[in-house]
Amino acid sequence: PLKAGIVGLPNVGKSTLFNAITKAGAEAANYPFCTIEPNVGVVEVPDERLTRLADIVHPQRIVPTTFEFVDIAGLVKGASRGEGLGNQFLAHIREVDAIVHVVRCFTDDDITHVSGKVDPLSDIETIDLELIFADMETIGRRLDRQRKQSKSGDPKVREEVSVLEEILQFLESGTPIRRINLTMEQRDYLRDLHLLTQKPVLYAANVGETEVVQLDHPLVTKVRELAQTEGTQVVMISAKVESEIAELDEEDRKVFLEELGLKESGLDRLIRASYDLLGLITYFTAGPQEVRAWTIRKGTKAPQAAGVIHSDFERGFIRAEVIGYEDFISAGSLANVRDAGKLRLEGKDYVVCDGDVMHFRFNV
Ligand code: GDP
Repeated sequence: PLKAGIVGLPNVGKSTLFNAITKAGAEAANYPFCTIEPNVGVVEVPDERLTRLADIVHPQRIVPTTFEFVDIAGLVKGASRGEGLGNQFLAHIREVDAIVHVVRCFTDDDITHVSGKVDPLSDIETIDLELIFADMETIGRRLDRQRKQSKSGDPKVREEVSVLEEILQFLESGTPIRRINLTMEQRDYLRDLHLLTQKPVLYAANVGETEVVQLDHPLVTKVRELAQTEGTQVVMISAKVESEIAELDEEDRKVFLEELGLKESGLDRLIRASYDLLGLITYFTAGPQEVRAWTIRKGTKAPQAAGVIHSDFERGFIRAEVIGYEDFISAGSLANVRDAGKLRLEGKDYVVCDGDVMHFRFNV
C-alpha cells in the first residue's frame, strides 16, 4: 500500500499530530490482517459519497477505505551527514510515496524551537537542504559509476550521465527536484534512484489552538506563498486541537467543531489532501451487504481495480458494470439507473474514474 510520511524538525508537533491520527484510526481499525508497527497509523478516508450511496442502497454496513501514515521523527539539521540518527531517517523517507511536512506556526515560549525562533520558511529550507544533500550523494554515487561505464561508448550511458549532471546542478543551487519540470526521459533515468526531493510534498502548518479559524495567520500566509511557487498544498491544522478531538466520540466531536466554527476537523482535511497527493482515487461497490470504498491509483484499469477486492476478480475478469457516481445519485435507485441506460458494461481497457460504482463479472 502507498504511504505518506510525516516529517519535520523536532518540536513542531509531529508526534501530537501522529497520536491524533493513530487514535482516530484505532477506533476505526477493523483491520485484522495488518499488524501495524508503532510508527505506522492507519486512517480512514472520510468521504460523504459513502453516506449518499447508503441512502439509496440501505446496506448493512458502510466501509470506508484507508491508507497509512508513517511517523518519521528525528530529522535534524546535519542528518545527511549522519548526525543524530540521520541516515536512518533518510532511509525511512525513501520508503514513503509522499511527504507531509509539518511546520511550526504556533508560538509558545515554553516550547523550545530548535533554531531559536518560529520561522516556518527557514524550517522548510533546513529540511529541504538535508534532503537535497542526500539526493546529491545518491546522484553523485551513480554518476561515478556511470562515468566509468561511459568510456565504453554506450550512448544510453552517456545520455544518463548528462541528465544526472544537469539534475545535480539544480540540487547544488538549492532546488528540490519536485520544482523542476522534468521530461519523461529525465524521469526515466531518475526512477530507480528514489530521490527524496522528487517525492510529492504537502505542508501541514501547525497553528496554536486559538488560531485554527484565523484565515490571515501571518506565518501560514508565508507558507502558502512559498507553496504556491512550487504548486504544493498547505493544510492549516492545530495538532493540539486534533489530539483533543480524537478523544471525543462522534456526537461530541460535532459539537466541539461547531463551537470552534469549523465544518470538519483539520485531520479530515489533511487525510484527504494526503490521499490526493499520493495520486489515489476511490471507486465504490454498493449492495445490500455493504457500501464500500476501494482505493486505486489514478489511471488504473478495470481488471486491476477488481484485483484490489480479490485476486480472483482480476484473474477471471470478464467485464465491469459501471455507474458514474453522479448518475447513481441523480437516478436515486438501481432500477432508475437501468431505465435511464446509465449502467455501462466496460472491458479490460476501461480506466476507472473517481467515484465509479462498480460490479465485476468474473470466471472462477
Ligand atoms: P515533535 O517533536 O515534532 O514530534 O513535536 P511534539 O508533537 O512532541 O510537540 C512538541 C511540543 O509542542 C509538545 O509539548 C506539544 O504539546 C507542543 N505542541 C504541539 N502543537 C502545539 C500547538 O498547537 N500549540 C502549543 N502551544 N503547543 C503545541
